[in-house]
Amino acid sequence: MANTRLPVPAASESGDPLLLTPGPLTTSNTVKTAMLHDWGSRDAEFIRINKEMRERIAEAAGATGMHVTVPMQGSGTFAVEAMIGTFVPRDGKLLILINGSYGQRAKKICQYAGRAHAALETPEDTPPDIGKLDAALKADKAITHVFVVHCETTSGILNPVAEIARVVKSHGRRLLVDSMSAFGAIPIDAREVAFEALASSSNKCLEGVPGFGFIVCAKDALEKAKGNAHALSLDLHDQWQALENTGQYRFTPPIHAIVALHKAIEEFIAEGGVQGRGQRYRDNCKALVDGMRAMGFETLLPDRLQAPIIVTFHMPRDPKFHFQTFYDRLKDRGYVIYPGKLTVADSFRIGCIGRLYPEHIMGAVEAVRETIAELGVTQCGARKAA
Ligand SMILES: *Cc1c(COP(=O)(O)O)cnc(C)c1O
Repeated sequence: MANTRLPVPAASESGDPLLLTPGPLTTSNTVKTAMLHDWGSRDAEFIRINKEMRERIAEAAGATGMHVTVPMQGSGTFAVEAMIGTFVPRDGKLLILINGSYGQRAKKICQYAGRAHAALETPEDTPPDIGKLDAALKADKAITHVFVVHCETTSGILNPVAEIARVVKSHGRRLLVDSMSAFGAIPIDAREVAFEALASSSNKCLEGVPGFGFIVCAKDALEKAKGNAHALSLDLHDQWQALENTGQYRFTPPIHAIVALHKAIEEFIAEGGVQGRGQRYRDNCKALVDGMRAMGFETLLPDRLQAPIIVTFHMPRDPKFHFQTFYDRLKDRGYVIYPGKLTVADSFRIGCIGRLYPEHIMGAVEAVRETIAELGVTQCGARKAA
């Protein structure tokens, strides 16, 4: 597969700042222009595009045959909520591995859906404890499923999904993965990593626009999931049946976002799929971390835990550093960054994903350099001891 360099959305063409965020992201002009049509939801060409999109997503997960992709209207959280509600039976129990706010959100989903749950929590800069997972599964036979976040976007940490999957499988339980911010850039292959379902969305590493999520589901589990769901609109079994039987959605599909993702996946394949996209994001991440460290900024995570998706930096200790001013001046220079949402440290985040290349990241680093000079900030090291 060729590692084609993809078209870049020149900021001058759209006039938009580049989004160094966890999504929505900067997308290519070709993805945006794919949406300049009106389709009816029964349009034969749309039905073909939707089917091909579903197949290509399953292929990217190494999941052709045993698994099937079920899209779900709404943001990524709708897909996670549909996954938990559809796969955890009403008398099942979900063990949630929490090291950030997306793990916390899964717990809230269980509370709304009325699913029994337990949590194993580690700090935001610490991966789940495999030994404790093993012990919990041994001790509590009521647990039917385990939930893990692949890349916890709260900190940017990469959780060891393959290792977790082995432990879960060895106890005969099933794994649900929130791979929202990792899928398409960090490999996960259904032939090696046993998951029952994996959720992601249109506006993260596949570089489409927001509007829907999708769940790569084990077919045997979907077949058994009839009647589990707590909400009609979030019932993946029902959604799947409609798509298989008629090729159509039960309720209005986000057609423009689907056509845009179909186009984005063509570009993803041209870039070399997960390998090519992951390499570009690793290059972006390295340019970012090297550039920021050269100015004295400190990352929350050591490099071995850092996913090449989004990087958390400690707030500088310099009293002249005011985050809102820093943020606004960077935006004026054409770069949008992201506030932190850690509980363990005062921080901000800069993303590496979307249609951006290392030269864009170096542009952002240069904008940071100019901005801190303007503010008179000289001490960029962590406010609290790192
Ligand atoms: C983005 C993201 C989600 C979904 O968030 P939405 O705002 O609902 O799209 C879920 N989990 C993770 C890890 C994410 O990064």
